[in-house]
Order: sequence, then structure tokens, then C-alpha cells
Amino acid sequence: MTSKELRQKFLDFFAGRSHQIVPSAPMVIKDDPTLMFTNAGMNQFKDIFLGNAPVKYPRVANSQKCLRVSGKHNDLEEVGHDTYHHTMFEMLGNWSFGDYFKREAIDWAWEFLVEVLKIDKNRLYATIFEGSPDEGIERDLEAFECWKKHLPEGRILLGNKKDNFWEMGDTGPCGPCTEIHIDLRDDDERKAIPGEQMVNKGHPQVIEIWNLVFIQFNRKANGSLEPLPAKHVDTGMGFERLAMVVQGKKSNYDTDVFTPIIDRISQMCGIPYGTDPKADVAMRVIADHLRAISFSIADGQLPSNVKAGYVIRRILRRAVRYGYTFLNFREPFIDSLVAVLVEQMGDHYPELKAQQTLITNVINKEEATFLRTLETGIKLLEQLIEKAAKENRTEISGKDAFVLYDTYGFPLDLTELILREHNLSVNRSEFDAEMATQKERSRADAAVEADDWINVTNAEKVEFVGYDTLKTDARIIRMRTV
Ligand code: ATP
Ligand code: MG
Ligand code: MG
Ligand code: MG
Repeated sequence: MTSKELRQKFLDFFAGRSHQIVPSAPMVIKDDPTLMFTNAGMNQFKDIFLGNAPVKYPRVANSQKCLRVSGKHNDLEEVGHDTYHHTMFEMLGNWSFGDYFKREAIDWAWEFLVEVLKIDKNRLYATIFEGSPDEGIERDLEAFECWKKHLPEGRILLGNKKDNFWEMGDTGPCGPCTEIHIDLRDDDERKAIPGEQMVNKGHPQVIEIWNLVFIQFNRKANGSLEPLPAKHVDTGMGFERLAMVVQGKKSNYDTDVFTPIIDRISQMCGIPYGTDPKADVAMRVIADHLRAISFSIADGQLPSNVKAGYVIRRILRRAVRYGYTFLNFREPFIDSLVAVLVEQMGDHYPELKAQQTLITNVINKEEATFLRTLETGIKLLEQLIEKAAKENRTEISGKDAFVLYDTYGFPLDLTELILREHNLSVNRSEFDAEMATQKERSRADAAVEADDWINVTNAEKVEFVGYDTLKTDARIIRMRTV
């Protein structure tokens, strides 16, 4: 089954159970001071859960573009090194707003996985909330009873508050959740160590695929919980992980969500995927980051030096450096992968297709700019690494890291990433002090402010015509209406 078919199967399944299929909300969030990027399917329904918006449809399902690179959910460091965390991923979800509850949510999840997708039920596990007596929250026996219909008791495991109790914030809607995990290890390995010892332990073949959240309490300012009059269901399932399971692969990157991109990277650098572990990580990181950057630009977030724009720039520069060091790219190359991504995902996400030229051009210019200083920056960093080793230091100075940042465009986390490969780190407080001094300086001459947000809702009419370089790192992106 192709990933396209899989996504459609999910939507059809819930449409067939009276769910309204809604589009993904933008991945980039513009009007919420607490969140820069959508990191879960429920974000767009926050106001319904808070009781601030009317319920238009009591049952909803969709596939939501998510990005987990900052704040509460930051998976950036995992990406490429493991096989199932991405920066950008799709979350398949179904919701009940005051309509059905645990029984239906669990029965349908089971039916979809086992009967529709024919996933081997002997490989599935569920976790339920163990309860929190201190706070007077009982074990989720309701969910336990629902699971007993489908799973032997030994495969229904207890989970703690961190994994199995969801809260929106310090106050507000919250409730227990039940997670579905799958054990994809070979039979021998499964016999040697039972799956129940592996769930939630970070084993790459024993992973969480679906989280069903039951929003049934309201946390009040004094910390106490009161039952909600209307109870809700909020589920999220990793689409790429599900594709891995359904396509019988051991890694998300071996599914057709990623293989066309990885194949193209491999062709371009002449290194077959699967022959050199370091090159493999680089290819996975680049394939992942391409998606994060492209979807962000399609949603109107261009790389820049501030806030969400800098998050995107950091991700892109990370990808450029992986390509430079491990795959020997010396010229822009990520831009030419955009066409492959659009081919793969443009049907379901038409904004990608509509913005293809803009995305390609922005990435090309970003890459070219960074490549101009990357080589010198890397040489400087190598000297610093050598010097630190000679002097038996485990740290490089914040001043040096700041020069890399300010003159060579190395985001701090990129410098830290490279240093980690040599067991070194940066003196953070020194770096922060340098940064504060520079901010003070630039406040004085902040005459030119470039807005890093463009409105692309009427995208066909906007054409990218290039950067206006004002200073080394302050640029205005010129757009022309055609
Ligand atoms: P994990 O424990 O594997 O990090 P999670 O508990 O943080 O996952 P949830 O917040 O419950 O994830 O999100 C719902 C589902 O989204 C998960 O069950 C998983 O299938 C998927 N998911 C979460 N994070 C990622 C990611 N970084 N990349 C791909 N899929 C993800
Ligand atoms: Mg996580
Ligand atoms: Mg988890
Ligand atoms: Mg989870």
C-alpha cells in the first residue's frame, strides 16, 4: 500500500463513521504567542476544548502537518540518528467534541489497525494511565476494560503521568491517554526479551504509533481537577510510522514517504544509501529537513534572523552542513530536491505545488549564502577543536562561537552539533554575554526592519525576485505581484 493510499484509507475510515474531514491547519502559527509551530493535530481545536469556540462538527478527522523543533516537543536532535522521529511529520487524528468517548475511540483504533490495515495483533500493546492517588485521579479502568476486549491483560501496560496523562497547560482541559505501541522486532529477539519490557524504552523497533487522549477534566488555578460537562477525544497517530508498519519496513526512511528523496540525494552525491553510516545519517537528516523547510515556506514562513524564521534558517543550515561534510556537496543541492517532494506530496498538500518556485528559489539563495562562509567557518572550527584538544580543554570559548555565529553564519546549535562530534561544548554564558552586547549595539542602529512573514494565500500572484542585501545579515526579500 502506498503512503498516499494509507492516508486516504484513514480518512475514509473515519468519514465512514460520520467524521467531517477537515484540512490540515497551517504548520506555521502566526497568532498564538505561546506556540510558533503546530506540534499536534489538536492545536487548531484548542478553542473548542477551552470552551471558547462553538462545535461546528462533533466528529472530525484529518492529517495535520506538525513540526517539533522547539518548546515542549523538540525532537531535532533525534532526527536522522533514530529512524522514527522527524522534525516535520503528519499526524493522523480523529476527534470527538462532546460526542463519542473511550469505547468507540478504542474500538475504532483497533478496527482500523487490525481489520482494515491487517496489522498483526500479536505485535500490539496498549498503555493506560496508572492513576495518581496524590491528586485523587484514579487509574483509567474504563480504558482498561475497553482494551480487554481486544488484548490479553499482559499486553495492557500501566503508564505514568509523563506518558499517559495529557495537559494543555498549568490550567485547563486535561485527561488520561492510552497509547498504542507496536513491537516489530524479529521473533527471536521478541522471545528473548518480551515486548512489555520494551514499550516506551526507546527501542527503534518497539515504538508508539497512536495516542488516544480522553479529555475529561478541567485543571483549576488551585491545581484541583473537576470533571468536564462535555468530554472529548483527541487522537494522534504518526503517519510515517504507520507507513513503516504497513509497508513492512524497519525505518520510516525506508517507506515511500522518504525513498524518492533519499534516492535523489544518493544519486546526486554518488554515495549509495546504506553503505556508510555517517552518510546515511546525513541523507536522512537532509530528507527530513527538506520537508520542514519546504512546508514552512509554503505556509509563508521564510528563513530569517528572528523567531520562527530563525528556526527555519537553523534547520536549513544544519542540512547544508550535513551535505557539505558527509556527502561532499559544495554547491546548492537542497533546492533541487523540492521537485521530488512536490511530486510526492503536492496532491494532498496543494500549497506545496502552488509555492514550488518560491520554495526552490528561497532555499537556493539560503544555501548559496551559507555556502559562501561555511568552508572558512568549518576551517576555523577545526582549528579551535585542535587547539582545545592540545590544551586538554572540553570547551571552546563563547567568544569564538560568537565569531562563528556573527561572521560565518553558524547558528549556535550547529556549532554545538559539530563540537559534540568531538566531545566538546561551548561556554554558553560567554556566548550569551557576547550576544547581549551585540543586541545592545543593533538596537541602536535598528533603522531597517525586514518583516519575515509574507502572505501567500494568493500565492500564484506572488513571484520571488531575489534578496536585497542591506547588511551582512539583514536582508529584505523582494516579492513582486504579477
Ligand atoms: P514519542 O514518545 O515516540 O516521542 P510522543 O508521545 O511524543 O511520541 P505524541 O505527542 O503522543 O507523541 O503524538 C502522537 C503521535 O505522533 C505519536 O504516537 C507518534 O506516532 C507521532 N509522533 C510524535 N512525535 C513524532 C515525531 N517527531 N516524528 C514522527 N512522528 C511522531
Ligand atoms: Mg515525543
Ligand atoms: Mg510517547
Ligand atoms: Mg504519546
